[in-house]
Amino acid sequence: MTSPQWLDSWTADDGAARVRTLFAEAFGADGDPDGVWSAPGRVNLIGEHTDYNAGLALPVALPHRTYVALRSRTDDVVRLASAQAPGTTWETTLGEVGPGATTGWGAYVAGVAWALREAGHTVTGFDAVVDSCVPFGAGLSSSAALECAVAVALDSVHDLGLGADDAGRAELTAACVRAENEIAGAPTGGMDQAASLRCSAGHALLLDCRPGLSALESGRRVPFDLVPAGLTLLVVDTRAEHALVDGQYAARRAACERAAALLGVENLRAIDPADLDATMARLADAEDGAMLQARVRHVVTEIARTAEFAELVQGGRLAEVGPLMNASHDSLRDDYEVSARELDLVVDVARAHGALGARMTGGGFGGSAIALVRAADVDAVVAAVDGAFADARLTAPGFLLSPPSQPAG
Ligand code: ADP
Ligand code: MG
Repeated sequence: MTSPQWLDSWTADDGAARVRTLFAEAFGADGDPDGVWSAPGRVNLIGEHTDYNAGLALPVALPHRTYVALRSRTDDVVRLASAQAPGTTWETTLGEVGPGATTGWGAYVAGVAWALREAGHTVTGFDAVVDSCVPFGAGLSSSAALECAVAVALDSVHDLGLGADDAGRAELTAACVRAENEIAGAPTGGMDQAASLRCSAGHALLLDCRPGLSALESGRRVPFDLVPAGLTLLVVDTRAEHALVDGQYAARRAACERAAALLGVENLRAIDPADLDATMARLADAEDGAMLQARVRHVVTEIARTAEFAELVQGGRLAEVGPLMNASHDSLRDDYEVSARELDLVVDVARAHGALGARMTGGGFGGSAIALVRAADVDAVVAAVDGAFADARLTAPGFLLSPPSQPAG
């Protein structure tokens, strides 16, 4: 038997040293970077597939971050290198960046500059390098970590002043969302970027995704203090290949939009959980009625669970949230149909070995699961999950601990 694989985070000094070294190798002939910035991946405690339904989500920032060393240029050229794309540089000019015109990982970076320009800010080209300890494609939002690290870097070198307060960070969030949706072409809902830019250490961020809310109304910090409660947030990267993710994600969004149109509401947030039975009845005769009912049932109950979770945590009743996490997972598995065998395995084994609650996190079809575990039980849960993956002949999972950490900066 091998020992469990822990995916450790880097210290800020280590992350900065890595990108400074990489910058010197890639672009050092023309001088030093203007500075180093970084942004975290995120893990969502509850509120899944709710962001694009104007609902609630409750992410925390991971201690795992993406680091960027960046030097502003006077022209429009963008030159990039990443430790995660070794041996190549990615180049474009900002004038060439646009929806459908930009491919490759640099789209997440150049897209942010494009979106800031679209919002009326003056942004020039730049040379930048990237290195990251956020697991890739694990549902922990390495894409948002990359965008948000670049956003705070450009904010800083161009003195935009947006990083200084929560309202400005909400603007940076919007730019990163546009970069991901319109330039990278991933139709994600906005939770990831808000989490990376607006979370804070020791807190979760209660995100209200209704359109038109002010920054203050759209994000509220909720104390999420695990240590005094004797609890640990364990994250398990299942390393499951998530085939078909993009198409499935878009299909879920489309089903929600179709259901909202049939119900005559602007979005599914508008449905009162108390009216769920009546709502189900109204969808019964629609084409694919049973499928639409299940999708709507997930979204409406998940938003209610998220509100309840936040209220418990706010009231210092952290140890009572487990059943809400379990119900969230079951709803994502059965009604929203976005779980995967590996995610279900983590959840089942963690629950059986004493986790207070466990659920998949992120978009699903692979990626990561989380478990709320008493500190004294962590080793037993990790060993049990690792053993269960070995028994099932699955790729060994990666384990992370996630104390709620600092935002982009
Ligand atoms: P997740 O956000 O869950 O990790 P995504 O598929 O949304 O998964 O984003 C992963 C993609 O983001 C990668 O395929 C790559 O294009 C880009 N990316 C993220 N971090 C980096 C990095 N450090 N260097 C280069 N590309 C990155
Ligand atoms: Mg992503």
